[in-house]
Amino acid sequence: MKIVVLKFGGTSVGTIEKIKKVAQIIGNYKKKNYKVVVVSSAMSGVTNELLKKSNLISENFSDAEHDVLLSTGEQVACSLIAGRLIHNGFKSRSWLAWQIPIITNGSYKNSRIYQISKIKIIKYLKDGGIPIITGFQGINLDQRITTIGRGGSDASAIMLAKFFKALRCVIYTDVEGVYTTDPNKLSKAKKIKVISYEEMLEMASLGAKVMQPVSIQDARLNRINIEVRSSFVKKSGTLITKKSNIKNNKIITGISSTHNDSKVTLVGVKDKPGVAASIFKPLSKNSINVDMVVQNISQNGKETDLTFTIKTDDLNRTKKILKDNKNINFRKLVLEKDVSKISIIGVGMITTPGVTFRMFQALANKKINIKVISTSEIKISVLIDKKNSKKALDVLHNEFKLDK
Ligand code: ASP
Ligand code: MG
Repeated sequence: MKIVVLKFGGTSVGTIEKIKKVAQIIGNYKKKNYKVVVVSSAMSGVTNELLKKSNLISENFSDAEHDVLLSTGEQVACSLIAGRLIHNGFKSRSWLAWQIPIITNGSYKNSRIYQISKIKIIKYLKDGGIPIITGFQGINLDQRITTIGRGGSDASAIMLAKFFKALRCVIYTDVEGVYTTDPNKLSKAKKIKVISYEEMLEMASLGAKVMQPVSIQDARLNRINIEVRSSFVKKSGTLITKKSNIKNNKIITGISSTHNDSKVTLVGVKDKPGVAASIFKPLSKNSINVDMVVQNISQNGKETDLTFTIKTDDLNRTKKILKDNKNINFRKLVLEKDVSKISIIGVGMITTPGVTFRMFQALANKKINIKVISTSEIKISVLIDKKNSKKALDVLHNEFKLDK
């Protein structure tokens, strides 16, 4: 069977007019003889509205009821899509997660899909139907409704593609695809034609908010080809696939930048085993996310400086935790707000020497000072003053010819 999974996000089904448009897109796949499985999110804003209501009823609204309530948005959207397809002469119906069923485990609000029963949907597809399936929801072994975390309909789509062995999973959204860098920050950013899962994961966690990162990880593990494209503009989007499917000669695929970061330096910490652990343990206990970490080599073997970055929102708490920490000694605490992390990402750098040098030289030519450097196999990140971040994006975009 030639199965495709089509997922529509909240903005794609945000109004009645948009739902009519979505029904046309679905109909076109059906006319090309695909077996079409549709997954929808709730109409945009609906899930947040429901959440607000639950908070007004009780500050301690039950987690199980939270899932029953929040999952209703998807039911509405799916019914409307199916209704429009029937209006257009197709055989279609909505399927709620429990009717299939889509079985989840884990806790309410944050369950994971682990099993999807195929029998009913396969029969329905064979009979020529177009199933419109609620994203975001599932049912657990106690027969209760669950949800799989905010933005979870991406993960629903990937899991459906996995269980139904779909040729492809198409994520329809309000952007045309994944861009070389955030188009709101750099207008010459270009749509990427194809990107590997690994690169996409780096881009996603760094702020290219196109898809939920866990769903990309699921797609990578199950080798599912994803196409991200717009519901409103008829243009090809971005293919997210495995490395070996990518045959271009680009060294760098994309550049990401963060904002609202701060840098913390502990000057003169004792250079002995266990010190770093003592510094970071209370931070992690307080759910403070530490990003880049660098420790200088000590000159005298006794003392060293330790630098790390955090979100600026966490700066005051971090300061207090460090000062209150009886297990560590340091001479001085240096805090710096308004720094920004710029990362170049690309599997091409594994096989190409000199990428690090090119990045540093390009920044130096623009007199941009680098404060901290960190690297992974497919990523080089530098920390710079936030006021230089646009200039840095621009010069690196040119250096690695990303607009070509
Ligand atoms: N409607 C859900 C949410 O707003 C799921 C999703 O959009 O993917 O989080
Ligand atoms: Mg959404």
